[in-house]
Amino acid sequence: MPRALITGITGQDGRHLAGLLVGKGYDVHGMVRGQNNPKIQMVQDETPELEIIEGDLQDLSSLIAVVEQVQPDEVYNLGAVSFVALSFRQPELTADISGAGVLRLLEAIRVVGGSDGNPIRFYQASSSEMFGKVRQTPQNETTPFHPRSPYGTAKVFGHYTTLNYRESYGLHASSGILFNHTGPKRGLEFVSRKVSNAVARIKLGLQDILTLGYLDSSRDWGYAGDYVEAMWRMLQQDEPGDYVVATGQTHTIRELLDVAFGAVGIDDWGQHVRTDRRFLRPAEVDVLIGDASKARNQLGWEPTLDFQTLIKVMVDHDLELEARKAGDR
Ligand code: GDP
Repeated sequence: MPRALITGITGQDGRHLAGLLVGKGYDVHGMVRGQNNPKIQMVQDETPELEIIEGDLQDLSSLIAVVEQVQPDEVYNLGAVSFVALSFRQPELTADISGAGVLRLLEAIRVVGGSDGNPIRFYQASSSEMFGKVRQTPQNETTPFHPRSPYGTAKVFGHYTTLNYRESYGLHASSGILFNHTGPKRGLEFVSRKVSNAVARIKLGLQDILTLGYLDSSRDWGYAGDYVEAMWRMLQQDEPGDYVVATGQTHTIRELLDVAFGAVGIDDWGQHVRTDRRFLRPAEVDVLIGDASKARNQLGWEPTLDFQTLIKVMVDHDLELEARKAGDR
């Protein structure tokens, strides 16, 4: 039975990946920080086969102990301060967890090594936010980086550190440069889920106004369930590498609002949406659109949900969730 270690197990991608790997017959270990995290129960209910292990990306000794104990065949580093807006408020914490954390985990893998002469394979969650103020459109694996947030700069450090461990120590270390990916498991702070949830609540009469920031940015949004499949495929290749994972379509926040409100029959969303400066960022990433030709050709990877379907699935999920919560009250 192959063994996998996932950091960031309580996040959107960790939850999707745990389910995928258990389905493929892996013994899956999810790393959590600290004690008493209420999300641990949720992920264990969702994937009962999952083993939880304590460790912290800010603490090298703990990572060495985790790698020694789990003896993984594959390590997926999904743990990070993942919200761009928060990274502006806590830049040093972001650099330490999302940046230096990658270095610590790679060090732990290098020091402990693999079991029975089997080298450990490593996946780094790199991000389209590394492209930031884009130098080329669409963005692919060779597009230069120009990050626009502490999150973006930390991810660039993690990306190059992964590449450096591949080249310096011959580690099977790959980076997935994932563009925005979402779905019903997305945190409510991200704009796609913030919108789907508010639209559901507005439709149910539980809320009237949705307050957002900048409405003119564009993102290439795919379904998270598809994106974790790409992560797994990267680690099954003979050679490690970098791969852009994206749909190749981009949509503005206004288009997101059109589709989400349209899904509940509200055509004129203007009466329900306000903007507020507190949701603006010190620097913005205006347009992201990815070219995933390499992932399609080398990994045989394809996205399965288009933007319209994805947003509708999220709104339907939130309608059910919010109706149930209101019924419980
Ligand atoms: P990101 O691409 O990782 O930053 O994902 P987000 O979902 O947090 O943000 C996507 C885009 O939506 C960014 O350009 C944000 O500035 C924009 N946006 C506009 N209003 C909001 C809001 O209220 N919340 C969030 N999270 N983003 C917003």
